Amino acid sequence: MRNSFFSWQNKLKYSPFFQKAFLTLNLSPDFPGLLNIELTNACNLKCVFCPRLSSNREIGFIKKSLFEKIIKELGVEGPIEVLWLMKDGESLLHPQIIELIKIAAAGKAAKRLELYTNGLLLNQSMSQKLINSGLDVLNISLDALDERTYLKLKGVDAYQQVVLNVKRMAGLKKKMKAGKPFLVVKMLETKEVRGQKGKFLKTWLGIADGVVIQKPHKWEGSVQVDPGSRVSSDSGSLSRYPCNLPWLSPAVNWDGKVTSCCVNFQDNELIMGDLNRQSLKQIFQGEKYRQLRRAHLDQDLVKWPTCARCRYWQQFPDMSRRLRKISQEK
Ligand code: SF4
Repeated sequence: MRNSFFSWQNKLKYSPFFQKAFLTLNLSPDFPGLLNIELTNACNLKCVFCPRLSSNREIGFIKKSLFEKIIKELGVEGPIEVLWLMKDGESLLHPQIIELIKIAAAGKAAKRLELYTNGLLLNQSMSQKLINSGLDVLNISLDALDERTYLKLKGVDAYQQVVLNVKRMAGLKKKMKAGKPFLVVKMLETKEVRGQKGKFLKTWLGIADGVVIQKPHKWEGSVQVDPGSRVSSDSGSLSRYPCNLPWLSPAVNWDGKVTSCCVNFQDNELIMGDLNRQSLKQIFQGEKYRQLRRAHLDQDLVKWPTCARCRYWQQFPDMSRRLRKISQEK
């Protein structure tokens, strides 16, 4: 029942009609509708499709006091639609992970609280704590159907361990009669697993609450993925329209710096402000954000080379009319 609900929900989620309706309601120059908070950019895997190894950022962990400050603001201004407690690293490595999830859930920061993990640290105790934490959705990135492919793609021989962890988590949920977190198993459709979509769905649909298969992308050209991917095109002749994310979905790095989107993994021109000194609202309504939005509307990205190289904006429909309207109203 839940599986079919999820696939129905997903079809809606990725349908152009739903995307446009969602964006119309949530695009805003006033406050974000979606947010990533990075708990850490440390990781225990070395995935070939992840850009973090070429990042110029220091490795670190968010301080509880800073996290509480952000959640408090979201509670006052929000709740936002979705809060993802992750960005460039493995969130379960944060020593206070369960405490932070509980703070976010109690603070009514978002209508949906999600976590992405590689599942390696999802032992029995962690699984039980996550089930009782208030988390709404737990996404586990598996990305392979066998040990050899997993090792090749993710750099560590941990396939069997993660499979065991996911199955135990699903079993515990049943045993504890827990509706949450909604358990999603994910696979990136790299060339190594091409043709295995059906097998992946069949393997996991009876176990997890949902299964998602996503196209990889090139992280502004930093990662070489299969060129057949929908968002990995390097074509120079793209007819470009504004990226929606500067009006929708910033990301907070573990050190409090706010970047325009979760795609930006560097310390660069897309750092819009610092939550140690400013509020999220001040940053989102600030001069630097205004300049970035104007550059996207004018398609003049010379001062924003990361956006100029990026192709992630293609994942979303052209909302330029709406963006111009809400930007003029300001
Ligand atoms: S164009 Fe790319 S890098 Fe720039 S804001 Fe959009 S998603 Fe982020």
